[in-house]
Amino acid sequence: MNVSKAGLCLKKAMRETWSTIAWEGVTVRVPAEWSLVGVSGDAQKGYLRVDSPAQSVLEMRWSAASGKPPELLAKGRELLANLDKSCRKQGTKVTSKIKNEGDSVTFWWKADRIGEGRLTYCQKCDRVLIAQVIYPPEEDLSDTAQSILRSMRDHRSDNLIAWALYGFEFAVPASYVLDRHTLMSGYIKLAFKNRAKQLVVERWGLANTIVADYSLMDWYRKDVLPDVKGFRTDFEQIDISGHPGLRVWGQAAGIRQAVKSVAYSLTLYTNPRFLTGYAWHCTESNRLYSVRATHDKGENIAERVRDLIRCHK
Ligand SMILES: [Zn+2]
Ligand SMILES: [Zn+2]
Repeated sequence: MNVSKAGLCLKKAMRETWSTIAWEGVTVRVPAEWSLVGVSGDAQKGYLRVDSPAQSVLEMRWSAASGKPPELLAKGRELLANLDKSCRKQGTKVTSKIKNEGDSVTFWWKADRIGEGRLTYCQKCDRVLIAQVIYPPEEDLSDTAQSILRSMRDHRSDNLIAWALYGFEFAVPASYVLDRHTLMSGYIKLAFKNRAKQLVVERWGLANTIVADYSLMDWYRKDVLPDVKGFRTDFEQIDISGHPGLRVWGQAAGIRQAVKSVAYSLTLYTNPRFLTGYAWHCTESNRLYSVRATHDKGENIAERVRDLIRCHK
């Protein structure tokens, strides 16, 4: 194979590697080299933006429709009218097309850049999704843009809520809502709440460096346990997906829990008495993973979420 042919193959392979981004169940697939640069909002209303390494951008918005099926065509026309207005102010002419495609509306516009977009409405989630890929004419990104737009989803078939950030994919039951989050490529933390119950999912990069001078247990004690309050914990070493791992379990203990229990008894939600956690070192991806949950007796939320994480390809 000559060099230019090898180069072409490499380019093709890169084009074919895609990754998933999901926030509050709103899911889209993008070329792997594109990166998430902003995400905000909740299940009712939110926004995410993904940038290509060159000058293309994917913008996606979602909002609750309040039980009334929206006029997608009218919404799309409104978006194009606003675009036309702002371009006119800058002296730029816009040409555009919009099309009703049954369950979705697609649009295209061209000014100094090109935009291709899609609007969908899901009755089950009662949510409108609007996405557009914007690119400079010289990038000729139409095929990629269409693949991105066709990949838009707003729910999984199993009723779990999808989350996927920087290659970290999992899902949680709908009763768990996002409480706090930290998003860095080297460390991701998503903390969910289901009334008084907590679920915390974390991923660390550069695992070899992090655990270099520690055992997995020492690392867990140093980096994870300080965040666990009010539980008396115990550990065992186990194998998780073929990796060295830990199982952690605990029972509510101490004055803090007693005070919390009284507080929650006033709101009818009992404070969970049990804690279960798993952590493992995936050598293939050089990452550390942790899932832990406080729960009532007999619940297996930590196991369910753990089993949904594919730590390496
Ligand atoms: Zn849906
Ligand atoms: Zn792994």
